Amino acid sequence: MTSPAYDYDLFVIGGGSGGVRAARIAAQAGAKVAVAEEYRMGGTCVVRGCVPKKFMVYASDYGKQIRQSAGFGWSVSGISYDHTAFLKAVHAEVDRLSAIYDRNLKSAGAEILPERAEFVDAHTLRLTMSGRTVTANRILIATGGHVWRPTAEELPGVEHTITSNEVFFLDPLPKRMLVAGGGFVALEFAHVFAGLGVDVTVIYRGEKILRGFDEDVRDGVTEGLAQAGIKLVTGTVFERIDLGADGVRRARLTNGSTLEAEAILMAVGRAANTGGLGCDKAGVALGQNGAVIVDDWSRTSAANIWAVGDVTDRVNLTPVAIREGHAFADTEFGGKPWHMDHTDIPTAVFTQPEVGTVGLSEADARAAFGEIDIYKTNFKPMKNALNGSSSRMLMKLVVRAADQRVLGVHIVGEDAAEMIQMVAIAVKLGATKQDFDRTCALHPSSAEELVTMRTKWVPEVA
Ligand code: NDP
Repeated sequence: MTSPAYDYDLFVIGGGSGGVRAARIAAQAGAKVAVAEEYRMGGTCVVRGCVPKKFMVYASDYGKQIRQSAGFGWSVSGISYDHTAFLKAVHAEVDRLSAIYDRNLKSAGAEILPERAEFVDAHTLRLTMSGRTVTANRILIATGGHVWRPTAEELPGVEHTITSNEVFFLDPLPKRMLVAGGGFVALEFAHVFAGLGVDVTVIYRGEKILRGFDEDVRDGVTEGLAQAGIKLVTGTVFERIDLGADGVRRARLTNGSTLEAEAILMAVGRAANTGGLGCDKAGVALGQNGAVIVDDWSRTSAANIWAVGDVTDRVNLTPVAIREGHAFADTEFGGKPWHMDHTDIPTAVFTQPEVGTVGLSEADARAAFGEIDIYKTNFKPMKNALNGSSSRMLMKLVVRAADQRVLGVHIVGEDAAEMIQMVAIAVKLGATKQDFDRTCALHPSSAEELVTMRTKWVPEVA
């Protein structure tokens, strides 16, 4: 398969989820492959995203679980939490996983270059650390994204804030934290730190958090914030931040108020990693937000260059990047053409309680198909009968009236992520409400409510 005119059949820029999968599949198919990674193998997900974040969610949740176990007869006095020891364990696990990425790739026959690669032209890359130049027949851009923050001109004092990159090193824990944003990262970390005993306030520019999610989910998560003792200030943004000699950050908001905290987390979105990559030199077109423009097959505007994952700003999730990378490699090197289907992707937001969602929201389903049947239930999970928790569980089915196909499932509550992964199979298979009805319940569980909702929800008329 080797293209003699080039050093490599495939050169992958970026050793994250998408790039590594593509490189491994292409190498296993016999291609000569290299991967350039300027930081650590594993990308955002493994090094400073999903993986360490989920560990923090567990750490935070344990405290609650331990306290709540008193309702089941356990004596829980004298418990304590060692944040330093926990972070040490997290970093050791991240190191282990990053090494596995490295090993798997090498054992598949790919070469790993600890380098930053930049385009010279469509087939040539300069490796900036060694100054070497390499050529490749095909190139895959899998450089991911980075945290976006306003500039110092836009937000004076922004340098006194941290991002999701630094939360994994925040030790000791601050007494108070302000969190800017109302999306995935802001809400997940608001719960993480609140669960670890930090006094958290979320500041969101809109009126309701989790824009784009089903309205009932947004309401359920808003309720969950209040139950966790997290304050939510909406309709405002930071105007300036001053750092006092006492280490306290004083944040003035556009609503005229001033809030104080030892730490401020900016979680106001991410942007594609295309800066300095030289895409223009290779004829790779970028969108206005800097993301690489691709078609369904992850093809860029340059004939021999593809892009997968967050750098394309399609659906910015690890399993999506992995599938896009796999599809590219199967198509180009494995003789098995297919491309990622971006519909019905299950998603979780690891708030506490968490969100699991797949398919269309009620509003999107109504906009697309008109008449929609809604089934929903809101109940107190069995476990909460004895543990003192007031947390409830929301489940909602969005069903197309014409053919009873289930277009969306939305869950807020404990284990929502685990449930939604399985329900996603039914939704992907095109299950109808009748298919849900004829599925026998599993008792006693929370998930059984998904197949026992019998009555259509009718909105209350004022
Ligand atoms: P999101 O897009 O989810 O949220 C960004 C938030 O910041 C929104 O509430 C947005 O408001 C707000 N915002 C944007 N710009 C400004 C501004 N200039 N001033 C004030 N507020 C602003 O981004 P995240 O960084 O939280 O997450 C990035 C992506 O990473 C997600 O989209 C998701 O795909 C992925 N991710 C997935 C996770 C998971 O699967 N559990 C976990 C973490 C991240 P508005 O809504 O009004 O635009």
